[in-house]
Amino acid sequence: MSDLQMVLSDTTAASAVTGSAIAASYNDQIRPLLDAVDRLRHLKVTQEGIQLPTIVVVGDQSSGKSSVLESLAGISLPRGQGICTRVPLVMRLQDDPAADSPVLQLEYSNGRVVTTTEANVADAINAATAEIAGSGKGISDAPITLVVRKRGVPDLTLVDLPGITRVPVQGQPDDIYDQIARIIREYIAPKESIILNVLSATVDFPTCESIRMSQQVDRTGERTLAVVTKVDKAPEGLLEKVTMDDVNIGLGYVCVRNRIGEETYDQARVEEERLFKYHPLLSKIDKDMVGIPVLAQRLVQIQATIIAKCLPDIVRQINDRLSRSSTELDQMPPDLNNVADAVREFFHILKLVCASLEKILVRSEFDEYPDDSHFHATARIAEMFDRYAKKLPAQIPKGSDQLFLMEEMRVLEETKGINLPNFLPRSAFLVLLKKKVDTVMQVPHDLVNEVWNYVEDIVVKVLMQHSDNFPQVQSACRRAVQGMFEKARARSAQHVKELIEMEKVADYTANPDYMKTWSEIMQCHDRFMKAVEDKSKSAKITLEFFGEVDVSHMRAHADLARQAFDLRARLTAYWKSIMLRLIDGLALHILLGVKRLVENDLEEELANELLRNKMAGMERMLTPSPSSGTKRERLKKSIVLLRQSKEVVGSIMDRICASGELV
Ligand code: GDP
Ligand code: MG
Repeated sequence: MSDLQMVLSDTTAASAVTGSAIAASYNDQIRPLLDAVDRLRHLKVTQEGIQLPTIVVVGDQSSGKSSVLESLAGISLPRGQGICTRVPLVMRLQDDPAADSPVLQLEYSNGRVVTTTEANVADAINAATAEIAGSGKGISDAPITLVVRKRGVPDLTLVDLPGITRVPVQGQPDDIYDQIARIIREYIAPKESIILNVLSATVDFPTCESIRMSQQVDRTGERTLAVVTKVDKAPEGLLEKVTMDDVNIGLGYVCVRNRIGEETYDQARVEEERLFKYHPLLSKIDKDMVGIPVLAQRLVQIQATIIAKCLPDIVRQINDRLSRSSTELDQMPPDLNNVADAVREFFHILKLVCASLEKILVRSEFDEYPDDSHFHATARIAEMFDRYAKKLPAQIPKGSDQLFLMEEMRVLEETKGINLPNFLPRSAFLVLLKKKVDTVMQVPHDLVNEVWNYVEDIVVKVLMQHSDNFPQVQSACRRAVQGMFEKARARSAQHVKELIEMEKVADYTANPDYMKTWSEIMQCHDRFMKAVEDKSKSAKITLEFFGEVDVSHMRAHADLARQAFDLRARLTAYWKSIMLRLIDGLALHILLGVKRLVENDLEEELANELLRNKMAGMERMLTPSPSSGTKRERLKKSIVLLRQSKEVVGSIMDRICASGELV
C-alpha cells in the first residue's frame, strides 16, 4: 500500500460519520486548502514550474467523461458523440448553501471572465472553445476554467481533458492522437496529479487507451481511481470486472449511471439509486463502490489528502523559486539613466575585465576558472614556449652536402682573396651564419602569432562575459580588441624581424661559453689535420662534437680543410648563443607585451572606441537591450506572482500548523 493509499483508507474510515459533521469539519479545514490551491492555480504558478495537486479526468472518447462531470456538478456540459471536449476544462465546483440559483462563470484566455447560466453554459463553453482552438475540430492545451457555485455540489476541482481517439474523425488533423496524448500526458505525468480514469462498462478495460496512458505514468496505479459509466447498458460481468481489477487501479472503482436523454439530474440520481438497489446483477456490487454520491465523497477525500500532502513541498518550491528569481534580478545590470551612469558602469566593467585578465595572464591565479584549463593562460603560454624552444635546432643545421666540411670549404673557396692563407676570412663566417639563421627564421614568427591568437581569444572571451548585459556595445568592444591585437602582432612581427636581422648582420657574444666550446672543439684540430695530411693512415676518424667522419675528399686541399674546421668550430660554438638570444629575447618580449596590454592598452583602446563620436558608445549603452529588458520584466512579474503565492500558502500553512491536523 502506498503512502497515499494509506492516508486515503484512514480518511475513508474517519469519514464514516454523519453528513453534517463532514460538512462542518470540511468548511473549517478542507475548504481553505482548496481555496489556496485554486488561488495558486489562478495565479498560474504552474508557469513557474510548480505542479499543483489536481484531479485529472481521462478516458477514451465517449467513455462518459463529460457526463460524469455533469453528474457531479448537476449541470449540462457539451456532450455527445464525436469529439466535444477540445481544450482542457478546469471545473471548479463550490458548494454555496446561500445560492438560490447556481452561479456559473467561465474564465479563459488570460483573464476573460464570462458569467453565464445553467441553460447557456454548454453554448458558452463551445464559444470559448472555438475562440481558443478554432471553430473546426482542432484541439488546444490552453485551459478554460468553469466555476460552478451551487447549493449541494461537492467542493472539487477537476480537469476534463479531450478524449483519446485513435482514428481522426472528418476534419481532424492527422496527428490528432499525438496532440491529445501530449496534452493528457502533460496533465497526468506530475506525481501531484490524481488520475480519474473514466471507463465505459461496455468495453473491455485492458483495451482502453486511457488505461494504457495512465499506466505509463502511474504503473502501480497508486494515484489512479476508476469510474465505470454506462453500467445500465452492460451490467453483465461488471461485478467480476471491478473485483478482478485486471488493470491495476490502486484507488479503486466507483460504478455510476449518468443522466440519460432528457432526464433531470434529480431524476437521474433516483434512477441510479434504484438501479444499484434492485438490479439483479448490479445490486450485488458493494455499496461503497456505486453511485455519484460515493464518487463525490471519494474525490473530496482524495483531494484533501493530496493537497495536504503536496502543500509543504509547494511552499518549499515557491520559496526556492522566489529566492532564485530575486538573486537573478539582483545580478541584472543596474538601470542606466544618463551618460554619466553609463560611463561609470563601463569603467566598472573594464576594471573587472582588466582584473580578471591580469590574474590569468600575468599572475597565474585561476580562482575564477578553476576547471577550465583553457583559461589557465600562463601555463598555456609556457607550453607554447616549450614547444618553440624544442623546434629551434640545438645544433647548427647541416647543409645539404653529405661530405664533411664541404659546405665550409665551398664558401671559403668563394670568399678567398689575395692575402695570407692563414687568415680566416670574416666574410666566409658571415655568409654561412646568414644562411643558417635563415633556416630558422619562420619559427619565432610562428610563435608570436600563436601566442597573440591565444591571448586575443582569452581577452575576447573574458570581455564578452563581463559585458554580457550590454550586447549593444559588444561588437564595438570586439572591434577595439581586434584593432589592439593587430597592433600587438605588427609590433611583434617587427621585433622578430629585428632579432633575426641582428643575428645576420654581426657576430658577437660576451658569453664565455663561446670561447670554452670553441677551444674544446679545437682540441681535436691536430688529430683532424693529421688524418687529412697522413695519406698512409685511414681517412676515417672519430671526432668529439662531429662523430665519425671521412676526410678523404679533403686530402688534396689541406689548407682549406684547416680553415673549414676552424670555421665549423666557431659556428658550432656561436650557434648556442644565437638560440639562447632567440628564446630569451622573445620570451621577455611577449611577457612585456602581455603586461602592457592588460595594464594599459586594453583600457585605452576600449575607451577610445566607446567614447569617440561624442560618446556614441555610451549612448548605446543607455538604450536597454531588448533581451535584458524582457528578462527584467519577466523576473519582476515572476517575483510578484511568487510573493502573492507565498502569501496564499503562508496563511494556509499557519492554519494547518495551528490546528495540528491534516499534516
Ligand atoms: P465523453 O466523450 O467521454 O465526454 O463522453 P460523453 O459524456 O459525451 O458521453 C458519451 C455518450 O455516452 C453520451 O451520449 C452520453 O449520454 C452517454 N452516456 C454517458 N454516461 C452514460 C451512462 O451512464 N449510461 C448511458 N446509458 N449512457 C451514458
Ligand atoms: Mg467530453
